[in-house]
Amino acid sequence: MNRKTSKIDVLIVGGGLAGLSNAIHLSKASLSVLVIEKNSYPKHKVCGEYISNEVLPYLKFLDIDVFKLGAKKIDKFQLSTTKSKLISSTLPIGGFGISRFCLDNALANKAMQVGAEILQDSVENIQFLNDKFSVKTKDKKRFEAKIVIGAYGKRSSLDIKLNRQFIKRKSPYLAVKTHVKGDFPDDVVALHNFEGGYCGVSKVENDSINLCYITNFDAFKTYKDIEEFQHKILYKNTFLKDIFNNTSLVFEEPLTISQISFDNKKPVENHIIMCGDTAALIHPLCGNGMSMAIRSAQIASLLIVKYFNSESSNREALEKQYLRDWNTAFKLRLKTGHLIADLFNQPKLSEVLMKGLKWFPGVLPYIIKRTHGKVMKVK
Ligand SMILES: Cc1cc2nc3c(=O)[nH]c(=O)nc-3n(C[C@H](O)[C@H](O)[C@H](O)COP(=O)(O)OP(=O)(O)OC[C@H]3O[C@@H](n4cnc5c(N)ncnc54)[C@H](O)[C@@H]3O)c2cc1C
Repeated sequence: MNRKTSKIDVLIVGGGLAGLSNAIHLSKASLSVLVIEKNSYPKHKVCGEYISNEVLPYLKFLDIDVFKLGAKKIDKFQLSTTKSKLISSTLPIGGFGISRFCLDNALANKAMQVGAEILQDSVENIQFLNDKFSVKTKDKKRFEAKIVIGAYGKRSSLDIKLNRQFIKRKSPYLAVKTHVKGDFPDDVVALHNFEGGYCGVSKVENDSINLCYITNFDAFKTYKDIEEFQHKILYKNTFLKDIFNNTSLVFEEPLTISQISFDNKKPVENHIIMCGDTAALIHPLCGNGMSMAIRSAQIASLLIVKYFNSESSNREALEKQYLRDWNTAFKLRLKTGHLIADLFNQPKLSEVLMKGLKWFPGVLPYIIKRTHGKVMKVK
């Protein structure tokens, strides 16, 4: 693809939720934006695909109507213990279910419609010299840009090149996702626990049901394959057994990812503004990574627009303000997320916790509130 313009204001590495939300916002503000995304659209991704309603006003600002795309409104929450005891609650803000296949594709189309360019290639190196970035791709292309946003997701070889600390530690988590068809209420998101992990269940567009589970490698490695693991471990939870046995598969093979790390990361590294999972990944048990990705894009875009509009653009001030705003928005919920994930990693403790929740169900909406943000304001 030939670039329409030679000058790039903002180069975005990765066209997932964070990258594409940035691309739309910045293009709407008349900045020249190039997104480099290694995959083509549409594409399925391993994700629970339940998004908190907190992002709806901002998605409206980006001109994305998820309900026109078929998203399901969700306002009920179910949590079951490894011993199949069910706790139900309402969701304080509520949310919706939509596949990444559909949402990322809609955002990509919108980004191009408002003037962003999307190049299918993989970024291999980012260097910062003399107050500008030089970016090299797998296809041996080189680009220069004033600002680079890192929105390349959970982990990448770029993290090794940037010498990021979290990449040096092994992570034990792996995840499996599939879509199935069958009976499940439109308005419920369920988290069913099993020994060593939990499985999220919720509907997305086209009446597909998303089944996505996360477990640690130790729980998984003694079984021959996914099928055996599901039969021997997941099916001990009768809710999961019922769902898996009474639905038909949409995907031929489930999608899998491994090495999922919830370690701390830095939201600005080598002057790159990190957004979404590249800045931090919250444990999906607290279910809010997608809205964090979209919200971090809003924070970054607002500051980047200011940076380009000011006569004396100050990179240091931009980076400091991004760090401040990012910490204000996410630090507390990440902390709570880590705490909850640690508790659920200890089977006996988590069973006691669940018993407590059964006795005091009012605590559940409080925990949900602590791990979710407030409805986003559009400035
Ligand atoms: C098992 C699991 C379940 C989850 N369930 C939920 C849920 O139900 N609700 C929720 O809110 N969150 C959930 N999350 C979290 C959510 O999926 C992420 O927080 C969200 O996808 C982050 O979006 P992103 O844009 O930061 O990254 P991504 O969506 O991962 O986008 C990154 C993009 O960068 C591209 N890329 C990577 N490297 C390069 C490169 N070198 N060059 C070019 N492109 C590159 C990738 O192809 C990708 O498209 C879950 C996460 C997991 C692991």
